[in-house]
This record gives sequence, structure tokens and C-alpha cells, in this order.
Amino acid sequence: NRQWLLSSRPTGEPTAENFELVETDAPTAGTREVLVRTEYLSVDPYMRGRMRDAESYAEPWAVGDPMKAGVVGSVVESEHPDFEAGDTVTGNLLWADYAVADGDDLRPVDPDRGPISTALGVLGMPGVTAYFGTTDVAEPTAGDTVVVSAAGGAVGSVVGQIAALSGCRVVGIAGADEKIEWIESIGFDAGINYETADVRERLRETCPDGVDVYFDNVGGPITDAVWPLLNVRSRVAVCGQISTYNATETPTGPRKLMQLIQSRARVEGFLVRDYESRWDEALDRLSGWIESGDLEYEENVVEGLKNAPEAFFGLFEGTNIGKQLVRVDRA
Ligand code: NDP
Repeated sequence: NRQWLLSSRPTGEPTAENFELVETDAPTAGTREVLVRTEYLSVDPYMRGRMRDAESYAEPWAVGDPMKAGVVGSVVESEHPDFEAGDTVTGNLLWADYAVADGDDLRPVDPDRGPISTALGVLGMPGVTAYFGTTDVAEPTAGDTVVVSAAGGAVGSVVGQIAALSGCRVVGIAGADEKIEWIESIGFDAGINYETADVRERLRETCPDGVDVYFDNVGGPITDAVWPLLNVRSRVAVCGQISTYNATETPTGPRKLMQLIQSRARVEGFLVRDYESRWDEALDRLSGWIESGDLEYEENVVEGLKNAPEAFFGLFEGTNIGKQLVRVDRA
């Protein structure tokens, strides 16, 4: 059983030296536990926060701890009444071939609902984040102009499509022409490549009536460029600040609060885990939109457990279109 450990804490960008792949004995399931063979594991931006020795919304990992992740896998052995061998499940497990979980912490995955990998993406944590962040926090209404950052990623691509379904004008910001082409093909009205365009100027062109909703996944200079366009009573949903996750010094506070006085905007952070009790509501809506053809998704699958760190680095380099996943080969 191969398993990845956090071998040291990164300074700035994480590197291969921060991870170690070890061999461990194959685990076995105890009372009410389930042994799961990993099929796909998820790499997510929040993991960078857990590698840091600092208070965050997710508890820090200790050096030497196993790397944890959202996993979708097959039940090999079950001591829990709800699961049997061969079932597909998802839960928070490990960057490993096999892991044991308390059956109460696993969710069944219905393979008839779509590819099982979607349980980590559009029909998993990122999809649910997009759904509640949009419907409950950003609250777009028909006619609004909605701007989404990291728009080519797992959360952002779903946010933009939900806003478009609500009758909004949607502008996405992302770091590659390929991402811009994709989002423009799935319902975004316009895309801005922040690597090649003057973001401020392009925002003024693409949002002639200002911005009613900003769904912020990145923070930093992109967010600075959006704020001056916020309309009166606009909403900013603060989902993530990925541009700061590798920072070695604490970034100085929001620089443009004066603009909130002018716009009377509401800026609200949120965490998907607060929506645990409504998870199925989001999955029903999201899968309904997929079935009706209103919601499209992409997955960027990196092959092989040994490449899990590279898949994780890719999140900061922007190599992923849609959800970044690792498919675990058989050891
Ligand atoms: P993505 O699939 O969007 O992948 C991350 C993307 O961020 C990259 O592809 C890259 O795209 C972009 N990015 C990386 N570095 C920078 C940078 N310096 N400036 C601008 N863009 C950058 O990840 P997720 O969809 O999983 O997550 C998106 C955000 O949502 C993250 O900030 C994450 O922490 C947050 N999140 C919050 C949750 C919550 O409960 N609040 C739950 C889940 C996610 P590009 O090519 O465009 O640069």
C-alpha cells in the first residue's frame, strides 16, 4: 500500500521535497469501518493551507502526517451495515492506494448518475461550493452582471453556468486562452485572460453596466481590478484567495474599502462545510442540470499515484481546465 506523507512544510511554492511516498502495511477494517481502494483522489487549493503551521479554517497537518484528500473508491471490505464489497463511495481519505474510514463518514456514489470521478468535482465538494456560493451568498438575479475569477476551474466554471442559467450576464477571468475559449463555449458571455489582457480595461468593456456580483476565487490584483466596478448594493462572495496561498508574508489588508462605502456592497465569506445538511439538495440540482445539458464540466486527470504532488502543483500553475484529479493506478 503506497501512501504519501507531508515530509516538510513548503516555503512559498510547494515542491517535490515536501512530499514522501512510503510503503505501509495494507490496512484492515475494524468495527463499523470500511476498507476503500482509491480510484480517484482530489487535489484542492485548501490543502496548501493545511501544509502551513498556522491557524486556518482547516486544521494544519503535522510534518510526517499522511496527506489527506477527497477520494472516490471501491469498497473492498466492509464492517458497516450500509456498505458492501464492490460499492462505490466517497469520503475524506488519503493520498494512498487503500484507506480505512468510519462508514458513517462515507457517502455512497451512484455510478449510474455519471462518471464516478464527478463525485470529487461537479457532483462533489467543488460543485456544492459553487451552488451554495452562488444561490445563497452571491444571490444573482436576472439581468445582473456577474464576474467570476478562476473561471476555468472546478468551482468557477460551475458558478458562471449557474449565473447564466439565472439570466445574468457572466464574465469570467482566467489565465489561459484555452480556458477562455472553453468558458465562452459553455455560457459565459465574455472571458478575460489576465495573463495577456489589461484586466481593468477589459472589465470596463465587458461590464458596461458595472458589476452586481463578484465571485472571488483568487484575491490579489484581479480582485483589485474588479472592485472599482462594483455597483450600488452589489455582492462579493469570497470563496477563495488562491493568489495568496503561497505568500511568504501576510498580505496587507483589502486596499479598496473606500469603494465599499460608495457601492454599499456586501462582502461575505463562506465555507462549503456549513452546507453539509443540504448537500443532497445541491447534488440534485447539479445533476438535473447536467442531464438537461445546461451544465457542462471538464476534468483534468493526472495518471498515477506517484504524480499526485505534480497534480497539486498544477493548481498554482493553472494547468487544470475544470477539476484537477489523480487516477490511482493499481500497485
Ligand atoms: P481551480 O480548479 O479553480 O484551480 C485553481 C485555479 O486557480 C488554477 O487553475 C488557476 O487558474 C488559478 N490560480 C492559481 N494561482 C492563481 C493566481 N496567483 N492568480 C489568479 N489565479 C490563480 O480550484 P477550485 O475550483 O478547487 O478552487 C477555486 C477557489 O475556491 C480556491 O481559491 C479555493 O481555495 C476555493 N474554495 C473554497 C471553498 C469554500 O468553502 N470557501 C471550497 C472549495 C474551494 P488560472 O489559469 O485561471 O490562473
